[in-house]
Amino acid sequence: MNDASKNLKLVQEKIAIAAQDASSGSKDVVLVAVSKTFDADEIRPVLQAGHRVFGENRVQEAATKWPALREDYPGIELHLIGPLQSNKAKEAVALFDVIETVDREKIAAALAAEMAKQERKPHLYVQVNTGLEEQKAGIDPRETAEFVTRCREVHGLTIEGLMCIPPIDENPGPHFALLEKLSREAGVEKLSMGMSADYETAIQFGATSVRVGSAIFGSRY
Ligand SMILES: *Cc1c(COP(=O)(O)O)cnc(C)c1O
Repeated sequence: MNDASKNLKLVQEKIAIAAQDASSGSKDVVLVAVSKTFDADEIRPVLQAGHRVFGENRVQEAATKWPALREDYPGIELHLIGPLQSNKAKEAVALFDVIETVDREKIAAALAAEMAKQERKPHLYVQVNTGLEEQKAGIDPRETAEFVTRCREVHGLTIEGLMCIPPIDENPGPHFALLEKLSREAGVEKLSMGMSADYETAIQFGATSVRVGSAIFGSRY
């Protein structure tokens, strides 16, 4: 086993333990292995170890790596976890199985149009800017439930979950708790929250998937 596949195993074990401890009772938590900045040869050992769920934050970068990997390893589920521009909607719909970063009307409209055209239906999450950070993508928490409703009623899109990236310098717990509360208000079931530094905490707060990069692949330079 190389380092990444060893790390994968460790993270999987910690997820299983955290899920058992979670007050919501043990449940399956999906591990999204975040492979951004790592090239195909660095990703292969993790695929070889049987893992199939990955996250990328850039459409362009994903397009250079994943079509070939998909041919070699059937059953891959690829998540877009970075900001999406509407001029990339076409490529994103073609490439990704889950788009976690729907955060404004224009993107919802662009995705709806492309999904109809391509007859592909990636699963969709809304990104919430729980810390109301100026530079960060995501919708205002106060507008989340209404936006989820508009996605359905105006654009015909089913939103399955919410995603957040808490401010780097804050205790993430309150942000995870807020996202969980918003998911109940909006009537969605999936919660994508928690990264290498805090995925066990996120599971305590009800995460259904965690996005873990450096704890598996090593640090990004
Ligand atoms: C890079 C990234 C991650 C993974 O971060 P690590 O700290 O390396 O685990 C998770 N979510 C998003 C949105 C990211 O961009």
